[in-house]
Amino acid sequence: MTFNPDSDISGGNVKRRGRGAAVGGGVGIVGVIVVFVVSQLTGVDIGGLIGGGAQPGPAGPDQAITECQTGEDANENVTCLMQGASASIDDFWVGAYPSVAGNEYVTPNFILFDASTSTGCGAATSATGPFYCPPDQTIYIDTTFFQQLREPPFDTTGGTLAQMYIAAHEWGHHIQHISGIMDQADRTGTGPDSDSVRIELQADCFAGAWVSAASETDDASGTNYLEPPTRTQVADALDAAAAVGDDRIQQGSGQEVNSEAWTHGSSEQRQRWFTTGYEGGAAACDTFGVDGSRL
Ligand SMILES: [Zn+2]
Repeated sequence: MTFNPDSDISGGNVKRRGRGAAVGGGVGIVGVIVVFVVSQLTGVDIGGLIGGGAQPGPAGPDQAITECQTGEDANENVTCLMQGASASIDDFWVGAYPSVAGNEYVTPNFILFDASTSTGCGAATSATGPFYCPPDQTIYIDTTFFQQLREPPFDTTGGTLAQMYIAAHEWGHHIQHISGIMDQADRTGTGPDSDSVRIELQADCFAGAWVSAASETDDASGTNYLEPPTRTQVADALDAAAAVGDDRIQQGSGQEVNSEAWTHGSSEQRQRWFTTGYEGGAAACDTFGVDGSRL
């Protein structure tokens, strides 16, 4: 998706955290490999399960992203793209949250980190992949992941909407956390109709809901942040949703497809629930209300 060059994205809440490798000698290669296996093969992207031997990087202080002021900046580099996405996704949820829960919406923290960092869920590295940490209500992304999306085993085009889909998916986990949906789910199980998969498919659905409404989100002066997505851009986001499907990841790592091990859902499920949100909005994202055969 393309930002309106004149929109004011300075209200985004993304912060930058310093380089982790500078602290305590950084992360050992063993730690990196362990976390990579945990995150890529089981697809963990909700904190509380990470750690895996990584040494913690810095916990802060975090710096505001002052160089990202306009939509033109967001169209030019990935840091500003995340800043712009956060402004738009937040504006979307201010309006849409009442269709999901009755309590008050609060904005999550959003940290871009480099190499490694300490979080309320333990140590994270670039290899952890983007994730949401419920205890500190923070989305953590090392934007080098977006380059990984363009390489094997993912091999997606990984365009701007695909990148913002990832941010919107993690934001969806924040919505689940503050609304109590996440607490009610049993995230210990796996399989195609497990609560774990229902949580993930709902986050995909919430991301789709934002994409369809994104061109209506606006800054303080009423300028829309984004232009409507093109067909190619929506296809690009769907391509990313498919690439992170459990069946695709199992195949990409040389495993047999074993649906009983799924934590995020198949490529087909992830694309379908993204589309459900895109067509029906956040209120259509009740993945816990449908029979397992229709999930
Ligand atoms: Zn997720």
